[in-house]
Amino acid sequence: MSRISTAAIGSISVTTLRDGERTLPPEALKNLSNEDAAKINSDDNQSLTFTNFNACVIQNGTQNLLVDTGCGNLFGPTCGFILDALDELDLTSDDITDIFITHLHPDHIGGCIDEDNSAVFKNASFKIVEEEYNFWTSKEFGSDEINGTDWSSLAKKVLSAYNDRLEVLTGQIDIISGVSTVPLPGHTPGHSGFRVDDGNQSMVHMGDIIHVPNLQLKDPNICTLFDVDPESALSSRKYALDMASNDNLLCTSGHMLDPKFIHLEKRGTGYATIS
Ligand SMILES: [Zn+2]
Repeated sequence: MSRISTAAIGSISVTTLRDGERTLPPEALKNLSNEDAAKINSDDNQSLTFTNFNACVIQNGTQNLLVDTGCGNLFGPTCGFILDALDELDLTSDDITDIFITHLHPDHIGGCIDEDNSAVFKNASFKIVEEEYNFWTSKEFGSDEINGTDWSSLAKKVLSAYNDRLEVLTGQIDIISGVSTVPLPGHTPGHSGFRVDDGNQSMVHMGDIIHVPNLQLKDPNICTLFDVDPESALSSRKYALDMASNDNLLCTSGHMLDPKFIHLEKRGTGYATIS
């Protein structure tokens, strides 16, 4: 099955790359209603907690911007296929001119480096917003903290591999022409989505505001243990989902299932996909 899905936004091409898929352990979810918890328990196929790990390539004619790089070899045999997905687009790692990382969690940066901790994308500038850079570099993490020592040491390894072409973005500036950041703090302090605007067409990538779409679209109060600041993460989740539904924006996200590009509408206290 193809790992890619493409949408044209004016003259800009946005392609999602499915790095992998797996189910999220139910114990990683918080604020589950009793009803949803019971459904998960009786769901032998684990379809409610199923998730995808997606990266994106944005092509504007001169640049190939890769947003996130998948899990690498960190999440088992069903993940780590970013280069296969790029190959479907006739791109190699050397064709990537720019990288933007939505946040420095392992399922988004695992594919940045190889077994020797060297950069996989040798020709790419490496962009990240200031708040995210500061969070991962300004302190030593304890093993008992959310995000912990393992994740922070991976983040530092990746930043070090791309140190010579690291660009720390301050303020809300374009990542490349036509692509701008959308701050969505909470999941991590600098967690960001992005927008693509060209002509009169637009789309929004909502980052990691949802991890299990089959549960969280209907009930956005459900969150994961990985949120550094759950209250801000909830605000950002509702902000992004409101923006997509109110403005009827084409949208996707880091853990979107198929179809990858959807429209949303408000339904009751949650949201639903519309065609
Ligand atoms: Zn993620």
